[in-house]
Amino acid sequence: MKYYSTRNKNNIVTAAQAIAQGLASDGGLFVPETIPAVSISEIEALCKMDYREKAVAIMSKYLDEFTEEELRGYVRSAYSDNYDCAEIAPTCFLDDNTGVLELWHGPTCAFKDMALQMLPRLLTASLKKIGEERKVCILVATSGDTGKAALEGFADVEGTSIVVFYPRDGVSDVQKLQMTTQRGENVFVSAVEGNFDDAQTGVKKIFSDRDFANALNARGFFLSSANSINWGRLLPQIVYYFSAYCDYVNSGKIKMGDKIDFCVPTGNFGDILAGWYAKKMGLPVRKLICASNRNNVLTDFINTGVYDRNREFYATISPSMDILVSSNLERLLFMLSDDASVKSWMDELKTDGKYDVGAKVLSDIQADYACGYTGDEEAKAFISELYKDTGYLMDTHTADAYGVLSKIRRSGEVFPTVIVSTASPFKFCDSVLEAFGEDSSKSGAELIDKLAAVTRIKAPKPLTGLGGREVRFTSCASKEKMPDVVMDFLS
Ligand SMILES: *Cc1c(COP(=O)(O)O)cnc(C)c1O
Repeated sequence: MKYYSTRNKNNIVTAAQAIAQGLASDGGLFVPETIPAVSISEIEALCKMDYREKAVAIMSKYLDEFTEEELRGYVRSAYSDNYDCAEIAPTCFLDDNTGVLELWHGPTCAFKDMALQMLPRLLTASLKKIGEERKVCILVATSGDTGKAALEGFADVEGTSIVVFYPRDGVSDVQKLQMTTQRGENVFVSAVEGNFDDAQTGVKKIFSDRDFANALNARGFFLSSANSINWGRLLPQIVYYFSAYCDYVNSGKIKMGDKIDFCVPTGNFGDILAGWYAKKMGLPVRKLICASNRNNVLTDFINTGVYDRNREFYATISPSMDILVSSNLERLLFMLSDDASVKSWMDELKTDGKYDVGAKVLSDIQADYACGYTGDEEAKAFISELYKDTGYLMDTHTADAYGVLSKIRRSGEVFPTVIVSTASPFKFCDSVLEAFGEDSSKSGAELIDKLAAVTRIKAPKPLTGLGGREVRFTSCASKEKMPDVVMDFLS
């Protein structure tokens, strides 16, 4: 199967090239040229497979340059005892009409593991397939979850190095501890003076610096990114939509072929776009509900067809969804229009901060998507209410989705729905404790113990050991020194 760029249909590459390059040279994102179909009888067969077999079956449809044997090898290491449950992504049912797909049983307790445990395998294999002999240096600016998940995914992966920059003033205690205690010979972590924007700007500058690229080349390295615009990150996420559907059927609560909704806490639009691919492949999905926090640029877009980033940015209790430009939306727009339209909208976004997709594309979007948003105080109320009613504890991002679904249901309709749960509540203990009216002023490691005591729920293993682990990375760089940090590490 070929892939082409969302901004130029004539920019055609193989799957391995798409994954190795990440972003297309014209600034567009790579998308598959066709969407492979899955029949109901194939879904029936999937329902009898474990998660790893499902992943091979779905991913192989998009990766014909990779043998099933190769893919089987990747899933064996990506989804194994690095997860704390054999189901990998279990669905927990709150009632007959409400499932919660838990995507946080991996090594960093957030859903990004689902893709970032797989991407390093796909990427190193792709580099071999295209004959690349240099090593890859993954460069990441993170506001929290991505950095740790990328570190854990690339740690000690041959032929790769990874450098992660996080804002000194912008990650939670737990997130900082997770990163600074990272194991692995090929990893480096540094704080950056300032906020996430400073870290991100610094990384972008390194990516566009030709002299820097030449100097790296001389050391046998080239730069790449692990962020969610890479097709190799999107693809593994399609699998869990099939898996959740099978869980629903296997639970006996719906019949094979019945439709369900998915409600997805959304930031960069990668997770929910994977759901859209699953639907277009033939998974019986009625609506994808796009849930936002107070940064509700996507809610407005799905309601009006106007994407407008000219608005205030809010720091919320669901920080992984604090985003004003959702990069993966570009893929959906391309699938519903054409490369010339996408290019002009993205140019307008750059110059005016907004664009309007018009009535036709809007009605196509509304055929597949519903939307809504949840504020911080509402989200906290939903966390404590659900826990009191059922004993189920959710994190702040999942609470945004739960809140949107609850508000839709208040207006009357209850349809079988899977809420996509993207993080362990213990990863955001301060806000979750506040939801219970508890004090949250202690350090990260202490808060984990406190939340466990308050809720009588065990914290995930990767988080409980954090307090006692050796801190390996303590440096903090100015924005200007970031290139030196990378170069020193690779020398
Ligand atoms: C990254 C992230 C999201 C948003 O996912 P997108 O694919 O960017 O839409 C939601 N919740 C958590 C916990 C995340 O880490």
